[in-house]
Amino acid sequence: MIYSLLNPLPPLKIEPHQSILIRHLTILCGSDFKEQHDSFLQVKHGRIESMGEDAAAQSLVQSNPSGYIEIDGSEFVAIPGLVNAHTHAPMGFFRGLGRGKTAMIENFLFPAEKSLTPELVAPLSYSFIVDGLRRGVTCFFDHYYFSEAIANAFKRLKVRAFVGETAADLGGAFPGSDSVDRTIALCEKLRPSPLVKAVIAPHACDTVSKSMMVRLKELAEKFNLPIHLHMAQTSGEHDRVIKREGVTPVQFAKECGILGPKTLAVHLTNASPKDLATLKDHGTSVGWCPGSTVIYDKLADVKNFYDLDLNLALGTDCAASNDSSDMLQELRTAYLFAKDRRVPDEKITAAKLLSLTTINTYKAFGFDNDLGTIDPGKLADIVFMKKSINHEPFHDTAENVIFSMGSQAVEHVMIQGEFRLWNQRLVQIDEQELKKEYLAANAEIHRRLNLAKN
Ligand SMILES: [Zn+2]
Repeated sequence: MIYSLLNPLPPLKIEPHQSILIRHLTILCGSDFKEQHDSFLQVKHGRIESMGEDAAAQSLVQSNPSGYIEIDGSEFVAIPGLVNAHTHAPMGFFRGLGRGKTAMIENFLFPAEKSLTPELVAPLSYSFIVDGLRRGVTCFFDHYYFSEAIANAFKRLKVRAFVGETAADLGGAFPGSDSVDRTIALCEKLRPSPLVKAVIAPHACDTVSKSMMVRLKELAEKFNLPIHLHMAQTSGEHDRVIKREGVTPVQFAKECGILGPKTLAVHLTNASPKDLATLKDHGTSVGWCPGSTVIYDKLADVKNFYDLDLNLALGTDCAASNDSSDMLQELRTAYLFAKDRRVPDEKITAAKLLSLTTINTYKAFGFDNDLGTIDPGKLADIVFMKKSINHEPFHDTAENVIFSMGSQAVEHVMIQGEFRLWNQRLVQIDEQELKKEYLAANAEIHRRLNLAKN
């Protein structure tokens, strides 16, 4: 029997010897997102076992008819699962409340977050995770308080994530050494986890003292984990670090030894050319949240990001400043801002833009050998987008994916070889139950804070 991506989800009970074989796809292959038409993907044990022209799929099936669950993928484009490089998933409850506030982080977010508890952050995460999944996001780089509970939310939805416990001792919602204790507990807890992994997550250079920053660096070394932190996000942060340490946030991070090839420094809105060169020297990746930074403060020195060939990983940041986790929309925003800042066209082709939310992002944490492209041997995180009349013609499919299809064309999402979204519906998850839990947590935090738009 041959199933179809146009029909309801087939009963995908896979025997250990079987593969899923999706045929007649257009696939954006490899790190240059080269399009291959009428092609197949063979997925086995969570990985891409093989791929190529459809004629080869026919002989695979003929040689072993019971070894494959065949699905017709005509009319679909397969792209690698998208990654949101900077999120705070539980902050869905700020959705719609953040814009237009002065010094939003210090004056609004930090005080409000003091009312959070571990019991609330898991259900509060569901909205943002489901939103991302519906838009083709298969992995979130999350950074927040009580992250063991957030990890459980990702595990419940079987969505890939790298979660970090926001650690700080000089500022933020929960300053104190117990944030390091929570970091250690998270690292221990997630050691064997295949889908949800831990990272070390200092909050920022103004909210973390030198001694804590060095301690966090040591933990990153001990557990062999990447580092994810905000850096040079606001002028206030810049001024506080200069006053306290006599150097800029980036130079302070360098002195603490936390810059390196598995560090993701996010925002750099207030970084100087010298600071950016320092990041380049250390092979540190830059997290760029174009929409969010403009709402919080201003656009970063994007031209310099590109002139220095920094490894850029795109994120949306939280729902307070960017109400959804729509990476394809964020790519369009990134393109427009880069174009405005006169970044050369050859550096912002559609294929290069797609790398900002796939392979580049995994490179930031050292996981690009396993994830980020559609290539044989890689983990099967794949998004299936449906081609329709309103997307035609297709001269360059990568262009269509970003500029005409967008996230509304996402129909099915596979994570590690299993469909987690089919026809925009969650697979094996009761969405109404999730929504009930999310809205109850949302009502509780609003009750505690008396949050209202004003
Ligand atoms: Zn952030």
